[in-house]
Amino acid sequence: MKYVLETFDIMKRYKHSIVLEKLNMHVPNGSIYGLIGRNGAGKTTLIRLLCGLQQLTSGEYKIYGIKNTDRKICEVRKRIGAIIETPSICMDMTAKDNLKEQYRIVGLPNYDGIDDLLKLVGLENTGKKTVKHFSLGMKQRLGIAIALVGSPDILILDEPINGLDPEGIIEIRELILKLNKEKRITFIISSHYLDELSKIATCYGFINEHKIVKEIDRDELEKKFRKRIILNVSNLNECVRYLEENGLSYKVISDESIEIYEKLNISEFVIALSKRNCNINNFQEKGESLENYYLNLIGGANNG
Ligand code: ATP
Repeated sequence: MKYVLETFDIMKRYKHSIVLEKLNMHVPNGSIYGLIGRNGAGKTTLIRLLCGLQQLTSGEYKIYGIKNTDRKICEVRKRIGAIIETPSICMDMTAKDNLKEQYRIVGLPNYDGIDDLLKLVGLENTGKKTVKHFSLGMKQRLGIAIALVGSPDILILDEPINGLDPEGIIEIRELILKLNKEKRITFIISSHYLDELSKIATCYGFINEHKIVKEIDRDELEKKFRKRIILNVSNLNECVRYLEENGLSYKVISDESIEIYEKLNISEFVIALSKRNCNINNFQEKGESLENYYLNLIGGANNG
């Protein structure tokens, strides 16, 4: 199955305000899907709809090919685990007791697997320590362990690294990558930390003005991010001649500056140009970022 989750013209309206309209989303199996949009764009609402916590106004969605109107949807929704906003954790209990509680809620017949879950998220040595004494990163990892109860195939994380320190961010990143790779869990992650998201996401959906305005996978995006080299040279004509002769793509910016869109062997390039009496006065390498791409997509920083 190509997509584990698809939506078809989803709409959500609260009284007089429309939050989502004609929203179409396609989450590939085994992907880490980064859901990006400004505050209030409707990411949490979308996640709540997909988890069955709120009713759609119109449209439909499929989870593993099962429509939301099908009677089997409740069964198939068990394949989704989620942390929406903050994980539901009892602060006065240990990590293990929190997991036991979740086992009871989910209706599992025994506590088999709790130790494995604790180990999976790196909390196996927390013993009698209650959660209120955990770091934020540990709490978030416990939240993920709780969401993993029942062995879901899809995990939805709403802003998973909010408030975490750099160490906590790295722990969560590594855990997500491990679960994706080793347990083949598909992730949908909403986050404002685009730089961080770009380290793990394999595809992206951008929400703006109530809908997904663009879906793109990492490879396609990386092509758009291709690096460019900006040079200031003493002899532009000779530089252009060299680039032409070698079939390299470029754009002249001014009488002295040129942008090159190819990977270059810099030392060979410098020697070749100097043989043509052309010196490089300045050299800069630039690359696009996910943030720039997002801002361009939604029409500039003012909308961000
Ligand atoms: P953030 O990034 O700030 O978490 P978000 O993209 O997750 O934002 P939502 O929380 O889904 O956005 O909110 C989308 C819009 O829907 C907001 O304008 C919000 O005020 C509105 N909204 C959310 N829940 C309700 C509700 N129960 N009743 C009325 N309006 C609501």
